Amino acid sequence: MSEDTPTAPLPPCDLAIIGGGAGGVLVAMQALRQANGPLRIVMIEPRDVLAQGVAYATTHGEHVLNVPAARMSAFDDQPADFLDYVVATTPPGGPDRDTLAHAFIERRRYGDYLRVRLGEAIAASPATLQIVQDRVTELEPDAESATLRLEAHGALRAKGVVLAVGNTPKPLPARGAPQLPAGRSLAAWDFDAIKAIPADADLCIVGSGLSMVDTVLSLADNDHAGTIHVLSRHALLPLPHCHGPAATYDPAPLQAMGLRARMRFLRASAKQAVADGLPWQSVMERIRPHGQALWQSLSLPDQRRFLRHVVRQWDVHRHRIAPEVHARLQALLERGQLRLHRGRLDTVMAEGHRLRVSTHARDGRIDEFDVDYVVNATGVEMRAQTMRSPLLHDLLGKGHAQGGPHGIGLKAARDGRMVDAQGVSQPRVFILGSLRIGCVWESIAIPELRGQAETAVRGLFGPDAA
Ligand SMILES: Cc1cc2nc3c(=O)[nH]c(=O)nc-3n(C[C@H](O)[C@H](O)[C@H](O)COP(=O)(O)OP(=O)(O)OC[C@H]3O[C@@H](n4cnc5c(N)ncnc54)[C@H](O)[C@@H]3O)c2cc1C
Repeated sequence: MSEDTPTAPLPPCDLAIIGGGAGGVLVAMQALRQANGPLRIVMIEPRDVLAQGVAYATTHGEHVLNVPAARMSAFDDQPADFLDYVVATTPPGGPDRDTLAHAFIERRRYGDYLRVRLGEAIAASPATLQIVQDRVTELEPDAESATLRLEAHGALRAKGVVLAVGNTPKPLPARGAPQLPAGRSLAAWDFDAIKAIPADADLCIVGSGLSMVDTVLSLADNDHAGTIHVLSRHALLPLPHCHGPAATYDPAPLQAMGLRARMRFLRASAKQAVADGLPWQSVMERIRPHGQALWQSLSLPDQRRFLRHVVRQWDVHRHRIAPEVHARLQALLERGQLRLHRGRLDTVMAEGHRLRVSTHARDGRIDEFDVDYVVNATGVEMRAQTMRSPLLHDLLGKGHAQGGPHGIGLKAARDGRMVDAQGVSQPRVFILGSLRIGCVWESIAIPELRGQAETAVRGLFGPDAA
């Protein structure tokens, strides 16, 4: 791996990877592994550490993966690779391999794993990888290559590009939020700031998904004594994983059904599973590998209905948490320290030394409470138009890309090639990760990212190259 020297102009490369989060690193590893001759790869990432992005940047041990170790390999063809790493790096006397396979490992160890495997791939490859600490602001594709513009390094020509810019947090959806006193309105992903919240502070976490869980765990680890209000439109909390045998029903017929029939089928299958002594979670496990096919076989109106009426219920059943984490949340709820509010955030205003939070319930009722901090745990921005990314605005503005279905992310062909405003696939530019949610739905977790990384590299340099 060659390091970046800030003043040097960048020589052209074979592959430019925009973004050095987990997705970008998976692409780099695929390119290094698949190369059978010299190949110059450049990865552009503004952060000074690779493979972090938002998910794996946490340094705190209470933030664990939401998938068991046995299912987090970086490579489809070596499904036990992460587990092997965890076993090899667990101190003697620790849990055995079988226990670790089902364990929810600290997220910081996943970032370490990717960096270790990246180093090994570099050492074993005839290709070279240059890391450039910078941000890409423009991308101009043509039939044979593309030109990138970087904030500090100027232009870079690349024969192939993978766009792996990942997760962008949503701003706090409240009037008054931009005027709040500094340090009182925190992002759930600012893990160190959350950790520094005084133990007696009252706070309101906006959003009740996995980022809320991270925040509550950090507070609980600090023996937090203040009240933790959690506000969301639906007041649904993530449900727990349950380790057990897989359900045996056949999910294939689901693809021919409309949304209502699918939901009926899933509810009936879950009921049947429980009657058969299996956890309901086994039904979700069974359809997990079919997530993309299920989304793509829904009609556009049914996809819209799903986004409007079903998505929240879907999320809490699909994006589950470790059983022990779920138990900690339940204990806090039962103690009354964690208070769940169903409503829409309206305003947050400074009121003396405190913040006044006003919320609107569905029935029109207005609820108000005072806190010391407000935490934005509303999750990932899915609309490319609203992401604060000059690169995405440039791509859309110039018609090199078009918005994805339902305005989510960007439109990509089935193989992941970016599609321009005229509907033509860009032969040398692939998209990976959350920008493809509108097209494929399941597109942010490691099992999808590793597959997309492999397909992109094959599409650019392998037998499928355009
Ligand atoms: C809190 C959290 C927990 C999660 N836990 C799990 C889990 O347990 N298991 C699982 O499978 N998945 C999990 N996920 C899903 C997770 O999103 C993926 O696993 C993975 O981190 C996504 O990687 P990415 O590279 O696509 O995006 P990111 O990690 O967001 O990385 C994108 C990178 O692109 C860079 N970038 C952005 N714009 C530019 C630009 N213009 N130029 C250059 N660089 C740019 C950013 O700096 C960033 O480093 C979690 C996600 C979150 C948010």
